[in-house]
Amino acid sequence: MSEVKRAHNFNAGPSILPLPVLEQAQQELLDFKGTGMSVMEISHRSKEFEAVIGEAEQDLRTLMGIPSHYKVLFLQGGATLQFSMIPMNLRPAGKSADYVVTGSWSKSALKEAQKLGASRVAYSGETGNFKHVPAQTELTLDPEAAYLYFTSNETIHGVEFKGEPTPPANVPLFVDTSSDFISRPIDVSKYGLLYAGAQKNAGPAGVVVTIIREDLLERVPANLPVMLDYKTMVAGGSMHNTPPCFAIYIVGLVFKWALKIGGLPEIQRRNEAKANIIYKAIDESGGFYKGHAEPGSRSNMNVTFRLPSEELENNFASEAKKLNMIGLKGHRSVGGMRASIYNALPLESAQALVAFMREFQRKNG
Ligand SMILES: *Cc1c(COP(=O)(O)O)cnc(C)c1O
Repeated sequence: MSEVKRAHNFNAGPSILPLPVLEQAQQELLDFKGTGMSVMEISHRSKEFEAVIGEAEQDLRTLMGIPSHYKVLFLQGGATLQFSMIPMNLRPAGKSADYVVTGSWSKSALKEAQKLGASRVAYSGETGNFKHVPAQTELTLDPEAAYLYFTSNETIHGVEFKGEPTPPANVPLFVDTSSDFISRPIDVSKYGLLYAGAQKNAGPAGVVVTIIREDLLERVPANLPVMLDYKTMVAGGSMHNTPPCFAIYIVGLVFKWALKIGGLPEIQRRNEAKANIIYKAIDESGGFYKGHAEPGSRSNMNVTFRLPSEELENNFASEAKKLNMIGLKGHRSVGGMRASIYNALPLESAQALVAFMREFQRKNG
């Protein structure tokens, strides 16, 4: 076991990884499975790497219960490139796509989609400063849309869907689940496409996991640049060109870790326990701490809150840092504080934050 002093890591992304995953990577770094090489140094066409990517896919299928008529891709370009690849591949010429805008990330996705063709806003929470996710009745849906797109967790604003919006019949549902990927059980069969940049909840930066229902590949137009073409990526088993081998290896280890500790129900239980104690500290602060999200839309991944003044917020961040609590400043566009409490964050770190919040209020309240 590591004797190294680890931070209470509340970074929003890249962010904390499970300690056993880092330890295994460390152990295997110089000699991966008897090759005398690290995963960074072996051919992506070697049988060793074939096993790495094959197991990563299989373990994810087990973890999420992905039906066999879905393809799993490991892609590059970050979650941001999916903002463009989705409409390029899956919005047929002349069709419009519907977007649910609940924060910065869905707003960015809409903007990219608008550059390439018709896109409709099915809901926008912007005038209310993105404090909640919509109820089904707040959506205005196009029954002819190519797809309905939403962001299950808005990383910057800290609002999260508890379920998913229901699209009109025959309109597939697409989701950006970058910051709540494998954080709870979901029913994959409700979706046409799901994707997640790994670096929030599932691994290092450099790989995006995209899960796509097979029949949707029929929509992919001819002559897309190969690297932007889902069909090419499916045909090549995510290895049309050299994939981000090391990042795929680490996400594979994260999937194995998740299965080992009890799968998504156990991860959800842990995530709720962490989130509950922090929101409780906010609610019991008599208004000293003010949550950004409305209670029904609170994220279990990114807890956003404000203090009575910007000066106190700056002091909060710097004093927390002295106690080895890292990454608590909110995103520059929202201000305030943000505690990102992803899958790998131990309960002890959330408890340390709560103790610090109470003490800070006692001294400054
Ligand atoms: C971070 C994030 C993105 C952008 O990810 P990149 O990999 O940096 O492009 C997109 N969507 C959500 C929900 C995110 O949290």
